[in-house]
Amino acid sequence: MATKVKDNNHREDLLNLGPEIEKCQAKGFSFLIFPRRIEQIFLADTFESRRKRFFILGIIAILMYNLFLFTDREMLPDIYLTAWKIRLGIFTPLMIICLLLMRLPIFARFIDFITDFLVLIASASILVILELSHHPNVVHYHTGIILIVMFGNIVVRLRFWHAFGVSWLTFLLYVLAVSSIEQMPPPVMINNSVVLLSAIIISLIANYQMENDRRVDYLRELLKEIETIRLKKTKAQLEQLSSSDDLTGLANRRHFDACLDTEWKRAVNYRSSLSLLFIDVDDFKPYNDHYGHQAGDDCLRKIADVLRQAIRRPQDICARYGGEEFVVLLPNTFQENATQLAENIRKGVEREKIPHNYSRASYYVTVSIGIASLIPRPGLNQNILVELADKALYKAKEMGRNRVQVFDHTE
Ligand code: GH3
Ligand code: MG
Ligand code: MG
Repeated sequence: MATKVKDNNHREDLLNLGPEIEKCQAKGFSFLIFPRRIEQIFLADTFESRRKRFFILGIIAILMYNLFLFTDREMLPDIYLTAWKIRLGIFTPLMIICLLLMRLPIFARFIDFITDFLVLIASASILVILELSHHPNVVHYHTGIILIVMFGNIVVRLRFWHAFGVSWLTFLLYVLAVSSIEQMPPPVMINNSVVLLSAIIISLIANYQMENDRRVDYLRELLKEIETIRLKKTKAQLEQLSSSDDLTGLANRRHFDACLDTEWKRAVNYRSSLSLLFIDVDDFKPYNDHYGHQAGDDCLRKIADVLRQAIRRPQDICARYGGEEFVVLLPNTFQENATQLAENIRKGVEREKIPHNYSRASYYVTVSIGIASLIPRPGLNQNILVELADKALYKAKEMGRNRVQVFDHTE
């Protein structure tokens, strides 16, 4: 998308706006204005590019404006010093102030008006100079205004309704100013006015067409963006719905949580023991850092295979809990059997002999396992099982890794 996207919050809102945008694209929009909410997003999205354009072209405009310092002397020899003072002493500083204001965040919402003002005062300064001179050349002095109008409408590309207002105001000021100049013969005045009028009409038509094209493109870009957001959302929802982990094929966290819920309730009803193994790969960060993320992923798959082979009963559930952490939920299992199984898993991973030169525990990849076993009581929160196993795991890590640790109630 050509337009810069700043905050993602209103991007989410785009989904709700989808139908309105489609309608706007199909039926078109009148007078170069979108329906209110789309217009707001359009102005916000195009703000940065407008501000940059206005600023850079503003600098160029000031330089060009002062190029006429060289011609003032020849054109209006009677007042050229005053003309210089007006250009350099009043209008150039005023224009520079306008440009600086544009950079200030508090004036951000006024950048269109500041640019309008800039264009307007550039023309006004020419009219002031024109008013002061009594030289016959004054009849040709208006050409600068034509340039300014064209520059504002076609190059700076003021927003159409702004360009419209500024252009007609310029025309009005011009007619008022020149009608009081006696050196201006009426036919010349009429001719000059018609030339300026034509320049205004031509440049406004060009401005209208450019803004219209920009707006049509913008709607197309918005719809494309909405489609992308929709696809992303659907993908996320599908992932949520799936119960297996993409990388290892084990159950995912969501599925594990659901199983824990069911098994916990069953254990409460039957007063049976529930055990949980919390398994964490030792020094896996350095493994990734040195052997690469791809090798890390392969390693996680191998560990998942060890887990799959280690559990024997259909009701046991192995899941990837997140990152390099796995859990094994063992319904109807006491601590001794859970410890036995955990030890088998630990040894199984060690037997894989996956080289790991950066582990503090071994020359190979190893895991630490925390175990929690309890007979759930009604009213007890099921998360306690995970918390206790996690605490035991922490202890296993503390004690040097590559070991199995049972949660100790006495601590
Ligand atoms: P400790 O022995 O204390 O557990 O140390 P550690 O380095 O294993 O612990 P830490 O939690 O700091 O690092 C876990 C690392 O696991 C971070 C990340 O590089 C890696 N990791 C997490 N998820 C994935 C994954 O899906 N694929 C791969 N390749 N690496 C992962
Ligand atoms: Mg971890
Ligand atoms: Mg780890």
